[in-house]
Amino acid sequence: MIQITMPLNFLGTVYREIRQSLVDMGEMFDLLDQPAEVTDKPGAPDLKVTGGVVELDNVAFGYDTARPILKGVSVTVPAGQNVALVGPSGSGKSTIGRLLFRFYDVQGGALRIDGQDVRDITQESLHDAIGVVPQDTVLFNDTIRYNIAYGRAGATQEQIEEAARAAQIHDFILSLPEGYDTMVGERGLKLSGGEKQRVGIARTLLKNPPILLLDEATSALDTETEASIQDALKRAGQGRTVITIAHRLSTIADADRIVVLEKGKVVEQGTHDALLAKAGRYAQLWARQQSEDAEAA
Ligand code: ADP
Ligand code: MG
Repeated sequence: MIQITMPLNFLGTVYREIRQSLVDMGEMFDLLDQPAEVTDKPGAPDLKVTGGVVELDNVAFGYDTARPILKGVSVTVPAGQNVALVGPSGSGKSTIGRLLFRFYDVQGGALRIDGQDVRDITQESLHDAIGVVPQDTVLFNDTIRYNIAYGRAGATQEQIEEAARAAQIHDFILSLPEGYDTMVGERGLKLSGGEKQRVGIARTLLKNPPILLLDEATSALDTETEASIQDALKRAGQGRTVITIAHRLSTIADADRIVVLEKGKVVEQGTHDALLAKAGRYAQLWARQQSEDAEAA
């Protein structure tokens, strides 16, 4: 008996690890769309996060060198602050997310976290430091507990519940017939888009990364769900450096700084109020969205 359970347990662990890394990759693909193409330098040290300052220093990048996408982008996100990237589709917002993960290397300038160039540290430590809340959370055919817990191997029930509470999904879970043991996913209970997203937030919170990269959903959730997700995300961001790739300006109006990208360049940056007062590109985007929202209402 013992002889047979030990290898099975071992296989179970390996299987879970493989499954976890596959889904982690799956989430990366959702947000970032690209496989890793770069490797660690020999003997590269791990990233040491001291506060979580993210610095893009004159970053130049193109997927193909003939067509530059980012043309000298400089943005500093101070530790613990919340910075939103906005701009028209194709302006390079998601590309910045991909470079932050070092899925590609910059072609000019540098990208640093707490002063360490992302090219000089291990990718594993880099990925550990950054939590992603993707637009679409992938659920396993497993319990809701498992689905939250694989954000952190060996998490206790207490830690899982704390993350679920912060993601505002704990009460919902308790209302299910089998609570945290309820099976979810394709073959279990199907969760709504908003519920899935909250599971994703709980998962990320459990991982407890110092830096959060949020890709705001483009597809509209209903207004109430949207508001509660925003609330959960705000809580998730407390005490962390947060970079939000924003599609709806109304949700990032209270960001510490808003960076407006256009054709691979920063055209404006500042707070919502300062940018409105400037009556420039941001003010235009804002006015346009306000009138679109009014039409939709
Ligand atoms: P945003 O997120 O602001 O909409 P992206 O950063 O996704 O913009 O894209 C910026 C530009 O880079 C777009 O013109 C897009 O077509 C191009 N692009 C994105 N991914 C790739 C890729 N894998 N290969 C080539 N071009 C790409
Ligand atoms: Mg994008």
